[in-house]
Amino acid sequence: MNQQTLLLIKPNAVMHKHAGNIISIIETKAFLLRDIKVMQFTPEAAAAFYQEHLGKEFYDRLIKFMCSGTTIALLLEKANAVADLRELVGDTDPAKRKPGTIRHLYAEGITENAVHASDSPEHAQREIRLIFGSPQYPKLSH
Ligand code: ADP
Ligand code: MG
Repeated sequence: MNQQTLLLIKPNAVMHKHAGNIISIIETKAFLLRDIKVMQFTPEAAAAFYQEHLGKEFYDRLIKFMCSGTTIALLLEKANAVADLRELVGDTDPAKRKPGTIRHLYAEGITENAVHASDSPEHAQREIRLIFGSPQYPKLSH
């Protein structure tokens, strides 16, 4: 059954004009693009999005980075979307990123890592609501 997940193309990747290549990779791997939004995080919106990380040593750096420029949010759909997108995005730890993953290609460091992908179906629903609100996405016939 189809599942939805959220990808954010983070400010460093948009600034370096990698957004098109990242969307190409996603489509090559059979994800269907259901919604897209070009946006800029405010500190309040970034804090809501990353609330689980409040208090961690990298938190302030993360919020500042996410507010530093344009972000592109993509609502994606396919079977097993959450796990498959995490695999395609690559590891949080730069040393563990496999060749061919989006972070291996485009990350510039541990914080400036080009993309975000939801880590569970529950978090995906929460993050999709935060970014896109609650529009109706009709079931597709193909
Ligand atoms: P992921 O994005 O892989 O799910 P986390 O949810 O743990 O990783 O962290 C959220 C974001 O915070 C990461 O994508 C990265 O931008 C940043 N981050 C995570 N861990 C660190 C760290 N140890 N030092 C600096 N920044 C970090
Ligand atoms: Mg995470």
